[in-house]
Amino acid sequence: MKLTQELIVKPGKAAKLKHRNPDDTPGFRDKSEAEETLEKNIKRLANLQFRLYAEQKRAVLVVLQGIDAAGKDGTIRHVMSGLNPQSCRVTAFKTPSAEERAHHFLWRIDKAVPTRGEIGIFNRSHYEDVLVVRVHNLAPKSVWSERFEQINAFEKLLTDNGVTIVKFFLMITKDEQKRRLESRLQDPDKNWKFTPSDLAERKWWGDYLKAFEDALTKCSTPWAPWYVIPANKKWFRNLAVSQILVETLGKMDPRFPKPAFDPAKLVVK
Ligand code: AMP
Ligand code: MG
Repeated sequence: MKLTQELIVKPGKAAKLKHRNPDDTPGFRDKSEAEETLEKNIKRLANLQFRLYAEQKRAVLVVLQGIDAAGKDGTIRHVMSGLNPQSCRVTAFKTPSAEERAHHFLWRIDKAVPTRGEIGIFNRSHYEDVLVVRVHNLAPKSVWSERFEQINAFEKLLTDNGVTIVKFFLMITKDEQKRRLESRLQDPDKNWKFTPSDLAERKWWGDYLKAFEDALTKCSTPWAPWYVIPANKKWFRNLAVSQILVETLGKMDPRFPKPAFDPAKLVVK
């Protein structure tokens, strides 16, 4: 079965996160078996990106979400390593600034949407406004509960205007997060990735899972599907994300534009 079919949250169906296993590696037994496929995918992705850029008609928006230490940064570093920086734009969404807070929640998002020919990658996204905002009561329920529909409408608008949207939820277990946070504390080269508030956030694990369950269930649409990536094993996470991107861009089949002149009739003297 194709990974897109295996890992998708079917539109209109519950995400059922409790039934998904972050240790799963469907289709692959171990890292060594996956290495070749990952390399191939990265090369294919580079080729597809180049054609998308040449075509200048459509864009791709990749949304990465996941709990702290789920591997959002690592996915970008490993899977996007073959991309041409010229037509790739990564945006990390942090706590909104005063200016951003003065606007509606999609204002800062819309500004970062990739332009025709580009692949845009969101490290966190508008989904924070139904995740962290919900878990910590940063807005009343009457406000955040309306956002699922607003997000679906916004993503439909983008899709209708040539932006293909792919959304990944990197799913790890609480134990795996513990291991990763510990290594951020123990390894001096990883200290910078640690924020003491990560420990406080861990206490809200159940609430985050519930918020993710809801967001994925309500916002996996035919035009902007969610994929749940089993992410305890980094090699499988990288493989699955690269594979789904290759499948998605492959289906788009971007083409080099036909020249508006007849190259056979022109001579460079
Ligand atoms: P990091 O991705 O580790 O650099 O952390 C970014 C932080 O910004 C996380 O704690 C997010 O929860 C927070 N954040 C991102 N978007 C929002 C938002 N819309 N409202 C509140 N906090 C946010
Ligand atoms: Mg962090």
